[in-house]
Amino acid sequence: MDIQRIVLKKNIVVLGAGFGGIACVLRLEKLMRKYPAIRKTYNLVLVDKRNYHLYTPTLYDVATTAADDASSVSIKKAVATPTEEILERKNIQFVQGHILGTDIKEKKVLLDDAPALPYEYLVFALGSEAAHFNIPGIKEHAISLKWLDDAIHIRSTIRRKYEEKAEQGELAIVVGGGGPTGVEFSAELSGYIKELNLKFKKAVKLIVTIVEGSPTILPGFDLWTVTKAHKRLTALGIHLKTGCMVSRADDKAVFVKPSPDAAEEGIPYDSFIWSGGVQAVNVLSNGGVSVEKRGRMETDSYMTCISPDKHLDIAKNIFAIGDNACFYDPETHRPVAATARLAIEQGKVAAQNIFRDLLGKPRKAFTFWHYPYVIPLGGKYALAKIGPVHLEGLLAWAFHEFVELYYLWSITNDNWKALARWWRGLEIFSKND
Ligand SMILES: Cc1cc2nc3c(=O)[nH]c(=O)nc-3n(C[C@H](O)[C@H](O)[C@H](O)COP(=O)(O)OP(=O)(O)OC[C@H]3O[C@@H](n4cnc5c(N)ncnc54)[C@H](O)[C@@H]3O)c2cc1C
Repeated sequence: MDIQRIVLKKNIVVLGAGFGGIACVLRLEKLMRKYPAIRKTYNLVLVDKRNYHLYTPTLYDVATTAADDASSVSIKKAVATPTEEILERKNIQFVQGHILGTDIKEKKVLLDDAPALPYEYLVFALGSEAAHFNIPGIKEHAISLKWLDDAIHIRSTIRRKYEEKAEQGELAIVVGGGGPTGVEFSAELSGYIKELNLKFKKAVKLIVTIVEGSPTILPGFDLWTVTKAHKRLTALGIHLKTGCMVSRADDKAVFVKPSPDAAEEGIPYDSFIWSGGVQAVNVLSNGGVSVEKRGRMETDSYMTCISPDKHLDIAKNIFAIGDNACFYDPETHRPVAATARLAIEQGKVAAQNIFRDLLGKPRKAFTFWHYPYVIPLGGKYALAKIGPVHLEGLLAWAFHEFVELYYLWSITNDNWKALARWWRGLEIFSKND
């Protein structure tokens, strides 16, 4: 997109084409459609360094698919929707570029290799990156499961390690972090290794250890889910080291401690996967608005950022959503867990509030509620909670598939393309099941 053309109008700029950013631009475009006067005055601009939108909930599948014909290209086609396809026939301009930061006094977004992009309204939806918490050795020796490239890298690394260890008959994998990403990945690994054993006519024994600092896996989830997940993972032969912090790692072992003064225990590994936490992308730290200790932006209930100087209203047209926002649960007063659904809902609220500003109406507050969730745990088995209802097994797994299809439908104009993408994923990723 030609940035010179964009500067002629006032810009509403959304940074990041992830769950929050896409929900925000699509909602705002829909609202603005009926108001030619607003459309004449404002450009709606979406910026992302990548030209595709990633469906992260299937990354554990990408990292563990045994399908031989699944090249990186075919995997990408199954989990990534081209931004162009999402924005087709929409009044949204896309700028593909790396965001370096923002100048909120000058109201500009600073881009690598392109002129600064002026804005009237700005939405931060840049997601998060793996947090290593300064634990020695994690950055050097672990692979984080955060983005598509990571998942593809994990898949090829495990395959290589499998081949190296096939003669010795054992493959040890340590997973740091027992949240949803860590447990989903670990559970699916058994299927991956089983498939490789069948293919190569071997009997390599898989030893997976999940290390989790909290007293249980899936911290923050309800007791039913934690208990069922514990039972399922144990049945799959996965070792659960809960209440243990990773203290360091070297190229052969991950060291854990149950308490800071306790003796270290080393767990040898062939592959070390890190899913122990995320932090906001560092672009936010030079955003000029208040950030908390994990780098997320503090917002009010309208998803508006907060200025460090309470007397300045410099942040009033700046919003933060999804993994970029630190939003507190009104009941527990603790930051709400970052999920795709939360990002989507906050993106819609930010869109609504920008539009209400343009109409001269008061902004509306974001109301948090406990969204349904589903946690796939190997094969066609999952655990789900929808309101007060718990689902387990095949039904919950089917719900997981339905959620994906419904989401893909919701972001594209072409239902057939969405269906084809979902089907491609199902074909590739159910090879282990
Ligand atoms: C492996 C994995 C599994 C997950 N599973 C689930 C799940 O099952 N259910 C669930 O609800 N949540 C899940 N999540 C969490 C969910 O993915 C996030 O909470 C959600 O993506 C947050 O949305 P977002 O819009 O804030 O950011 P994202 O969706 O991460 O989007 C951020 C966008 O910003 C772009 N970007 C970042 N930095 C720059 C830059 N400097 N310049 C330009 N562009 C940039 C990125 O390319 C990206 O497109 C999972 C996450 C992971 C990693």
